[in-house]
Amino acid sequence: MPELPEVETTARTLRPRITGRRVTGVRGVDWPRMLPNTSEADMQAALCGHTVTEVDRRGKYLLIGFDDEQWVMVHRKMSGNLLLVPGEMPLEAHTHLVVALEGGEDLRLVDARKFGRVYLFHGRDQLDEFLAERLGPDSLLELDEKLLAAKLHKRKGRIKTLLLDQAFVAGVGNLYADEALWEARLHPLRSAESLSTREVYRLARAIKAVLVMGIERRGTSFSTYRDSDGVPGENQEFLNAYGREGQPCPRCGALIRRIVIGQRSAFFCPKEQKLRSQ
Ligand SMILES: [Zn+2]
Repeated sequence: MPELPEVETTARTLRPRITGRRVTGVRGVDWPRMLPNTSEADMQAALCGHTVTEVDRRGKYLLIGFDDEQWVMVHRKMSGNLLLVPGEMPLEAHTHLVVALEGGEDLRLVDARKFGRVYLFHGRDQLDEFLAERLGPDSLLELDEKLLAAKLHKRKGRIKTLLLDQAFVAGVGNLYADEALWEARLHPLRSAESLSTREVYRLARAIKAVLVMGIERRGTSFSTYRDSDGVPGENQEFLNAYGREGQPCPRCGALIRRIVIGQRSAFFCPKEQKLRSQ
């Protein structure tokens, strides 16, 4: 699932290539549920003839701003990919939206599992309101040691579960949560209130570090079925905990363990990430 580094990589790739370009058409919607607050006709009316002015990101959402103050927001969820391809290229399977750009290229949403969603907002205020209701501070741009400490203060609940809650902090998903907890030597089931200030600070630095490394490596193309499409990232070659059950911890050699928390896997080093505070 694309998390913050994958969405940031997409934004950085698209920004220089689509900013300043005009939309010439919107088509190809074969799955109306992927447009929760708009339709192909609405998007066509709002965007056609208008120019991309900004490409941005908040949490796991990709944001595209236009010169008429409209904003398109894409959440790729499990398997969505946003591809910029020559317009004459045949549509690949599972293409659910095509935004044609001046100059002959298409921005296409390809999503085999159909969980991806595209929203249209009329004005930045409407977009900001939507985001404010759903997202906590951005884990790359806003989260720091003091803010994380303040947010965790007197919070009940498991630390990993909190990290995955986008309203708590935005952008971290299952993979980067495991990597950050490994980096900070914290067991995923530690309760938030049991963390010392030193541990919280360590965690804040670890979150930032794994996200920055993930972006430098252009994201993680991790798939159990090894069928990722588009240009893959490289971060999957450098994972320390996630997906490495039974393999040695790169720091201490103990075998990485997997447990299930809320129906999702959590990978950790049993020797260094203890359930009890050290
Ligand atoms: Zn270890």
